[in-house]
Amino acid sequence: MNLIPNKRGLYHYGHLIFSLSLAIIFILLTKAYIIKDFQIPTLLLISHCPFYIAGAFFQDFVEPGGQGRIGHRRFFHSKRMVWINLFILIPLFYKLATDNPFKTIYIFEYNYYSLALAFCLGSLSHLTGDALTSKLKY
Ligand SMILES: [Zn+2]
Repeated sequence: MNLIPNKRGLYHYGHLIFSLSLAIIFILLTKAYIIKDFQIPTLLLISHCPFYIAGAFFQDFVEPGGQGRIGHRRFFHSKRMVWINLFILIPLFYKLATDNPFKTIYIFEYNYYSLALAFCLGSLSHLTGDALTSKLKY
């Protein structure tokens, strides 16, 4: 699905808005359908927010975009990166961040692994945003 065909990707503000709204929608859907009496741990969300946003900016920082630049969309913008994020990094950090990963959906602890998890989720949201404008390679 291409929202805007001849565009190479979202710009920084686009990624910021897209990633934050994706996170907000995910949290609201969880609150509405999965955990009804879910209390949003505000301090936890705020403390993880910079890492989530840094993850959303990371790919374009490493592989800068722009009109017709060659460096954009290499490894960190590939489908491989999506699979690595989804099946290796996110489960790994999720497992390391929480003691009983199969009992709770949300991590109520604050540690280095949960920050890394927020970073990986942000980078996944970046790839989601870029995949909407043009196909990811490899
Ligand atoms: Zn990008």
